Amino acid sequence: MAKELWSWEPLRTQFLLKSVYDLLPTPANLKRWGKESEEKCALCAKRGTLSHLLTGCAIALGQGRYRWRHDRVLLNSVGSHTRGQERVQMSGRKQRSLRFVDFVKEGTGGKGQRRGKRAPDEGLGILPTAGDWVLQVDLDKKLIFPAEIAVTNLRPDVVIWSAKTRQVVMIELTVPWEDRMEEAYERKAERYSNLKQTCTEKRWKAWCFPVEVGCRGFVSQSVWRMLGALGIKGRMRKEATKNLAEAAESASRWLWLKRNETTWTI
Ligand SMILES: [Zn+2]
Repeated sequence: MAKELWSWEPLRTQFLLKSVYDLLPTPANLKRWGKESEEKCALCAKRGTLSHLLTGCAIALGQGRYRWRHDRVLLNSVGSHTRGQERVQMSGRKQRSLRFVDFVKEGTGGKGQRRGKRAPDEGLGILPTAGDWVLQVDLDKKLIFPAEIAVTNLRPDVVIWSAKTRQVVMIELTVPWEDRMEEAYERKAERYSNLKQTCTEKRWKAWCFPVEVGCRGFVSQSVWRMLGALGIKGRMRKEATKNLAEAAESASRWLWLKRNETTWTI
């Protein structure tokens, strides 16, 4: 079994297993193994553990390395929401360098779809309850929260809204060290609670979904719940979750490979 794993996609599997069991040659491990006398991170000279290299280094953060990984996972999540979605058709347009995507319900109506009738959230999910969804993604730190809903400086990673049915969904993604997923969830929920309240006061039905995809590719339950609430279920939900895990893990693998390069160019 172990032999098979090692020969299959060797780079990927080695990174995944070794990162989970902390067996990668990090500066901290190299010192522990007696191979090096120093255990400093090549960028900031703090103790170079794997969690430091992948999520905790201030220099890496400042250089935009973690943001790059975050955006790779974010791009992947947007793709998963739309690709293959049966009842929802995607048409994209560029506007002021923002990435806009409209969700337009197909005219024919899907199997089992009740036309003109709002489905309860726990049934079909949020997305099938409207046909005029607009999706905005904060990829270049340029998202401006739709002023028709609320005026705020906050920039959730994804905002999906339907003006006709006055519904707004905010999604905030974090790619943390797996042990800190709950903490990230709480922090993000807190950050957006006032904005959600403001939306509600303005008679918008509002949801905020903080979601965490661990940096080694373990997806939090919050992702699963968010997809279900939106109405993305079954095979699509499984695929979306798997894709997010792979996006996070492969981006982290790239950060790992570049750990000793002091400049970050992508
Ligand atoms: Zn560092």
